Amino acid sequence: MAKILRVGVIGTGMIGQDHIRRLTNIIPNVMVTGVTDFDIERAKEAALSAPEADVFKTTEALIASDNIDAVLICSWGPAHEEAILPAIAAGKPILCEKPLAATQEACLRIIDAEVKHGKRLIQVGYMRRYDAAYKDMKNVIESGAIGEPLIFHSVHRNPDVPSHYTGDMAITDTMVHDIDVARWLLGSEVANIRVVGSKKNSKGGGLRDPLMALLEMENATLASIEVSVNIGYGYDIQGEISAENGTVSLTETNNVIVKRQGRFEGKVLTDWKLRFVDAYDVELAKWVDAARDGGATGPSAWDGYAIQVVSDSGILSANNGEVVAIKMGLKPAIYS
Ligand code: NAP
Repeated sequence: MAKILRVGVIGTGMIGQDHIRRLTNIIPNVMVTGVTDFDIERAKEAALSAPEADVFKTTEALIASDNIDAVLICSWGPAHEEAILPAIAAGKPILCEKPLAATQEACLRIIDAEVKHGKRLIQVGYMRRYDAAYKDMKNVIESGAIGEPLIFHSVHRNPDVPSHYTGDMAITDTMVHDIDVARWLLGSEVANIRVVGSKKNSKGGGLRDPLMALLEMENATLASIEVSVNIGYGYDIQGEISAENGTVSLTETNNVIVKRQGRFEGKVLTDWKLRFVDAYDVELAKWVDAARDGGATGPSAWDGYAIQVVSDSGILSANNGEVVAIKMGLKPAIYS
């Protein structure tokens, strides 16, 4: 009989509950056997949808439990390190929602612990790599059909954002996904970044919105990223690779176009969860497979660290108007 992975979920807010639903109802060979949250009542409520789940009072108790094989971290970013380090010490595979941690220093402590452990245990939740359209894009690039990729254009638009979306979140919360796919599709680390704000969208309050980033990659390719988070009309993710002999682009997400009365129209999604619902399913299924073997796959702690460095540098650039060089140490062998 297939081994059933017993997962403990740390943080049972919006994405934690969504992942509990996935692990309980959609993905095979896994069950949620524990949950915990700062807000214990929220954890108890989340446990109602996972029949085998015990509610743990603390992250430490959940990780230490003999009834937990692997942990899924869905708390907010500043709490990730305090969950990851004991999970590594216990040798338990980890899926950590992005970001890996809140600072570069915390990311490096996590990398250090994983390297000392001797093999990968951490997958970071950059789920676009599991999206069917992005995977097709990557396959076209790797097939050589359009020649060497030269430029990646990425567009990330939200209809609006909640009131707690403030400060630099357009970079730390939103642009990080585009930075991840830029590195992944172009096959290179970022050499430097410049971020500039345009004339502000009047609906954005104090936010610098929209933002444009230009990334020069170490392999001399380029990525441009537009982040617009109050654009009103919908949640719209666009991407195009311009290569030596052609291009490859993401298509619109609607299945049909209606033509009538001299016009044509299609649907634009408004909820980001719907755009990536299948990608999350694949992401978690792949994680479960790897975790059942005691390891990890997909975006690594190194990817999490690299994105943190680029995102911090992007904030610096947005503040000082300069091109900021990316400075990272050597990539440890376990991430090669
Ligand atoms: P959320 O709804 O605020 O949920 C986070 C939950 O974790 C809250 O219940 C919070 O409790 C709890 N929590 C915070 N620190 C904790 C700790 N030390 N131990 C246990 N529980 C703790 O946030 P969310 O939207 O689900 O986001 C959670 C994480 O997922 C974030 O890192 C976010 O960036 C990431 N995320 C990723 C994606 C993606 O596209 N991959 C999408 C959405 C979210 P309190 O409210 O009481 O603090």
